[in-house]
Amino acid sequence: MNVLFCSSEVVPFAKTGGLADVAGTLPPELAKLGVNMKVVLPYYKVIDLKKFKIKKINKDTSVAVIGNNVEVYFIENKRYFDRANLYQYNGIDYRDNLERFTYYCQQSLKLLKQIKFKPDIIHCNDWQTALIPIYLKTIYKKDPFFKKIKTVFTIHNLGYQGLFSKDDLPVTGLSEDVFSMEGLEFYGRINLLKGGLLFADKITTVSSTYASEIQTNQFGCGLEGVLQKRKSDLSGILNGINRYEWDPQKNKILTRNYSSDAIEGKYYNKISLQKKCKLKVSRDIPLLGIITRLADQKGLDILAGVIDKIVQMPIQFILLGTGDPKYHKLFENIKNKYKNTSIHLAFDAKLAYKIYAGSDIFLMPSYYEPCGLGQLISLNFGTIPLVRKTGGLADTVIDYDPFTKQGNGFVFDNYQAGALLEAIKRALCVYNDTENWKKLIAKAMECNYSWEASAKEYNKLYDKLKVLKIKKLSYE
Ligand code: ADP
Repeated sequence: MNVLFCSSEVVPFAKTGGLADVAGTLPPELAKLGVNMKVVLPYYKVIDLKKFKIKKINKDTSVAVIGNNVEVYFIENKRYFDRANLYQYNGIDYRDNLERFTYYCQQSLKLLKQIKFKPDIIHCNDWQTALIPIYLKTIYKKDPFFKKIKTVFTIHNLGYQGLFSKDDLPVTGLSEDVFSMEGLEFYGRINLLKGGLLFADKITTVSSTYASEIQTNQFGCGLEGVLQKRKSDLSGILNGINRYEWDPQKNKILTRNYSSDAIEGKYYNKISLQKKCKLKVSRDIPLLGIITRLADQKGLDILAGVIDKIVQMPIQFILLGTGDPKYHKLFENIKNKYKNTSIHLAFDAKLAYKIYAGSDIFLMPSYYEPCGLGQLISLNFGTIPLVRKTGGLADTVIDYDPFTKQGNGFVFDNYQAGALLEAIKRALCVYNDTENWKKLIAKAMECNYSWEASAKEYNKLYDKLKVLKIKKLSYE
């Protein structure tokens, strides 16, 4: 089985969110199952040439290796990718994003002929790669090289759709016929994600609950109709985490390593985090951590509603995040008002490890969360997740019941500030019961949300799809 995996970000080269973690981990895991995987991404300026062994193979393509010999191809173009960031500058999308990702999609297909790699399946991810399934069923339909290739399209976040002016359609090289209600048209604009959802042979998203949620008006972001239409081709496969990267027993950035049967080391991490963040050093004060993009999706509006009440409790609060200026302002204020808080408005991978390991409770009050990595990472570090019941959070965190002692975290349902506060109070009650809290930590650390299980699911999907007879689209 040959598979090309297309993603606009891949760990360790370029990352803005969870997609990068998936793209850097799933392909090597699939390769372990015998799938011949290759990955392709743009060659952004942020990618450190010296740090990785990246070899140039021709004027505009380079290659590096991840995992056990999975080749990652980089599409070069100074004009498009030699910029400070991946998609935007100062919170504003680059104006030529359609041009940039059209180029990336077209070059990814051209690359296949150059390197003589004929995939059975091209696995695309999010709107940046959505033109690929569209090209295969339109422009490349008759090309014998591409004719038999099938596509999987994975939605990592339906909230980002790649919307562009209709006048820019010629940039893509597609004909006017695709710009219709049954195609890329979305309220008079081009919607690349919609195109991907309609043209791909199979659609997946990153948890079962999210796969159901996106078929509803509340979470469908206007594409619920398209997803309902394709529901027999839509499934949810939960993301995992890279257990080596997030292993509290081996991680070198931690002050002290620890495991589920020797959690003592976790407290050394808490103390060193408190020192680093200039908080009062105490093993007993509950430390609440949050690491997130500062975006509405992440439940920051309900957090804002009760943040004063939270930090006035006998707790410590650490936030690491960057994004929407309105939340920068909010947390800047909190920082100035309360000594028991430590606010870091930045992206800082090293500090993230320390917060995951050193906190007691990890907050994810998301409005929606396709899968969420934060709760999986925090479980691994024995930091108890407190989440809203949505998407992948609902599929991975089970509310702790103090009577039966079942559960691995704290879950609230209503998207309301009061419900978040109530869940925090509940968690703090359990925290005060030191012996039970220790057991909860050990239980959390034993949850195994690894990539192995997810990779097996994707492999099954690839196998099924490879032999499936594909129905023709209305355009063909
Ligand atoms: P999303 O992809 O929606 O941003 P996920 O929970 O799926 O959310 O993944 C977010 C990933 O990015 C996690 O690994 C998280 O630790 C990391 N992350 C988010 N913000 C920051 C930050 N400011 N600094 C370091 N890591 C961050």
